[in-house]
Formats: sequence, structure tokens, C-alpha cells
Amino acid sequence: MNEKYEAVIGLEVHAQLLTDTKIFCGCSTKFGNPPNSNVCPVCLGHPGILPVLNKRVVEFSVLMGMAVNCTINKKSIMARKNYFYPDLPKGYQISQFEKPICQNGYLIIDDNNGFSKKIRIRRIHMEEDAGKLVHDIGYETLIDANRCGVPLIEIVSEPDINSPHEAYLYLTKLKQIVTYLGICDGNMEEGSLRCDANVSIRLKGDNKLGTKTEVKNMNSFRFVEKALEYEIERQIDIIETGGKVVQQTLLWNPDLNKITPMRTKEEAHDYRYFPDPDLVPVIVDEKWKAEIAKSMPELPDKRKNRFIRDFNLPSYDAEILTSSRELADYYENVIKITNNYKAASNWIMVDVLKIVNEEKIDIKDFPILPQNIGKLINLIDNGTISGKIAKEIFTDMLNSGNEPEKIVKEKNLIQITDTDFIDKIINEILNNNKSQVEEYLSGKEKVLGFLVGQIMKATKGKANPQMVNEILRNKLNTIKSSSEG
Ligand code: ADP
Ligand code: MG
Ligand code: ZN
Repeated sequence: MNEKYEAVIGLEVHAQLLTDTKIFCGCSTKFGNPPNSNVCPVCLGHPGILPVLNKRVVEFSVLMGMAVNCTINKKSIMARKNYFYPDLPKGYQISQFEKPICQNGYLIIDDNNGFSKKIRIRRIHMEEDAGKLVHDIGYETLIDANRCGVPLIEIVSEPDINSPHEAYLYLTKLKQIVTYLGICDGNMEEGSLRCDANVSIRLKGDNKLGTKTEVKNMNSFRFVEKALEYEIERQIDIIETGGKVVQQTLLWNPDLNKITPMRTKEEAHDYRYFPDPDLVPVIVDEKWKAEIAKSMPELPDKRKNRFIRDFNLPSYDAEILTSSRELADYYENVIKITNNYKAASNWIMVDVLKIVNEEKIDIKDFPILPQNIGKLINLIDNGTISGKIAKEIFTDMLNSGNEPEKIVKEKNLIQITDTDFIDKIINEILNNNKSQVEEYLSGKEKVLGFLVGQIMKATKGKANPQMVNEILRNKLNTIKSSSEG
């Protein structure tokens, strides 16, 4: 990117709320039901219908507002946003305009290199989703109204984001917060989180905002980052060659890795917003607010700091372990069993997440119970098994789901700490490797490793390695001094 310029980005994010029923009727929000089966006269927009606002939608919106430090407006208004589009049978969408439910918040984006920045949130409002048009079956366009009336919140940032990477961090943080709150599943590929990116450029140091374009249709965080990189370069090229950026809406094409125009501002709609006469103002008084606040979980930043403080974990570990609520819960369940906090973190970050990533599964579906990881760590720490055997037991648990103690017993994996027995094995190995012993005695220290290897092999990895080393050294020293004497 040309160093003279600075990018200015504001994001509008739609999050689909995890309520059981729609925003203005009792129809199910369940995904994947047969087309047009989750419908009724209200969400189909029949004449004379009367919408009733879903209380949970208000509660979820307020919870989100609180999580990102917003003012919760005591009174907010549902408004009609008028436009004609076949996926919206009423001919208008019920949304919020002048008086949204939440305003003036912020969240902190950060990375592990010490970067952190406050991004202001202008507003959060409640609205209904539109239906889905299906274009790829036969020659007709089909309409599935199941999604009509599914509740959304729209989270609008101030133009405080200054690079595609910051946009990525912002979205990651938003997703983390909505999933911690349990108000949205955060799945961008499936459309439960949708992002429109507004972007302009200006000379560094300039305070005035440049003309912006809006990029739509990005269904992953990486695509948002890529699309913004592309669009910023495009705008710089235009300015550098003496042109002017035209305000317009653009579509990201992930197959071509480029952007195509959708509409220019001249065609932009005037939505003729007005308060919906069928819906009373939404009143969230102090009592209700306090009630909602009770269901506020510990948020990711706070949880991360607690992990660092109470479990003495490096910031890097805490960041990864709190990246999702489920993973953080998994960790906390492991350390209910063991006090070895760092070992618990290592097992999860290395062994557990390796499988989770390889198999592309959710931590919820990981086959080993957290308690069993805790027990495994205790078995190492109390000397029952060696670290090497623990890895073997981990693999066994993955397949069998058995408790580690059971596996240790069945496979006879208990660490050998019987001095006499180890002594006997060492004598055998020394007898069978006379020339190596000679080499060691003549000063080749490296041979020691070979001998230890032989002993471990003879005990199938079960001998306590510290004891093996100690006894072996003593023995060799005795042989040495007797041969010298
Ligand atoms: P519009 O009226 O075109 O929808 P808004 O003022 O409502 O524009 O802002 C929509 C989003 O665009 C917000 O996230 C805001 O931060 C962002 N935004 C507004 N102006 C600019 C700009 N010049 N450059 C980048 N982003 C902008
Ligand atoms: Mg707007
Ligand atoms: Zn309905």
C-alpha cells in the first residue's frame, strides 16, 4: 500500500439471533426445515397482520449492547424501511432508524504482539431478516420464506478501523463476544454473521473523510480482509491517476478474487423510514436492564486476564484457551482435576487442538473428556506413568474414550520404579553390550544415551527415566573406578 495514504473503514455487521421463534410471530427459526414450512400470515406479510415483538430479541440486543459498552436507550422505536424486493413480502422491513436500542459503545481489538485499539460502535439495532431467493433450480426463481422474520441485530461501527487486518481483528472480537453471550452462533459461512464493509482512503494526517464505497457479499473473515485490500488499492490507483472515487456498492467475487460494481449512489434507495404504527415503543427500564445483566457471562477479555492472573499462564496460552467459551470451559474442567495449570494448557494447546484442527471438529465433539486429561496429568505428576507413555494413553483415549487409569491397568503401563528390577535389567544390558561399555569407559560419553535407549526398550518405555539414568551412571562409575584401581 502507498505510504502516503491511510484507509478508513467502518463495518456494518448483521448477527442472526439464536431465539427459538421469529421476531414478530411464533414461527420457528429452525434452519434446514423444508422451504416455506416455518411461516404464518405475520411473517408472510398478509394484509391486516399484527406483529408482536419477541421479548428475547430485546434481551439479546441489550445483552450485546452491555457487552460492548453501549448506552441502552430506555425508549427505542421500531421503524418501517420501505423497499420492494421479492424476498420481503410486506414491501417493507421492520427495523430501527432514529432511535435504536443501543448506542455509543466500543470494543477493544488486540493481537498478541502488544497491539490494542479502541473501535467505537455507533449503534446496535434490531430488525427482521428477509427470505431467501433460490436461483439455481430450473429456470425460475424460487422463494423460501422460512428466513422472513428471523431476528437480527445490526452492529454499526464508527469509521475507526484503519487497515484490513484491523477489520479482521474487529470481526474476530465481535464473533467471540456474540458466541460467548450465546446470542448468535457466529457462523459467517452459513450467514449467521454478515458483514458489509465501508471503505475510503485519505492522505495521512488528513481529518476529512474521503468518499466511501461499500463492499458486500463476503462470507469469511479472510474474504473481508482480502476484499478490503483489493478495494483500498483500487481507490489509491484512482486517486493517484487523477480520478475520483465514486460512491457505490460493490460485490466481492471470491472466485475471481476481485470486486464488481452492484449499484451506484444515484440508484440508492430512499427508504422513507417511519415509526411502525403497529408496534409500541420498546421500553427497557432499569429493572429489566438489571434482570438482563444477571445473565451476562464472563466476557473473553476478562476471562483471559483471569487465566493469566489465577493460573499463571502466559498471555499467549490464555488468548488461545479463551478464544471460545467451550474451549475455556474445557480447560477449566481439566484443572478441576489437576493443579498443574501449565501442563493442562500444554496438553490442550498441543495435543487436543492438533486433533480438533486436523479433524475439523468442534471442541464440544472432542472424544476425550476434560476430566480424563486431568487424570492423565496426575498420573504423570505422581510418577505412575512416564510422559512418553502418557502420549500413548492419549491416543488410546481418543479411540476408546476409556479412563486413563483403566488403560494403564489393562495395558500394564505403570512406570517401573522398582530399583531391584531396574538394576537387574541394567546388568543384562551392560553384559550384552560389552564393547559399548568399553567405549564409554575410554571417555566416549555419548554412548550413555545408547545404553539408556536399550534399557528403555527392554522395559517397553516403562522404566522411570530418572532412575535409569541414576543407577546406570552409578554402575558405570563403579566399574570405572574398579578397573582403574
Ligand atoms: P450510509 O448512510 O451510506 O449508510 P453511514 O453514515 O450510515 O453511511 O455509515 C455506514 C457505515 O459506514 C458506518 O460503519 C460508518 O462508520 C462507515 N462510514 C461512514 N463514512 C465513511 C467513510 N467516509 N469512510 C469509511 N467508512 C465510512
Ligand atoms: Mg447505513
Ligand atoms: Zn410467522
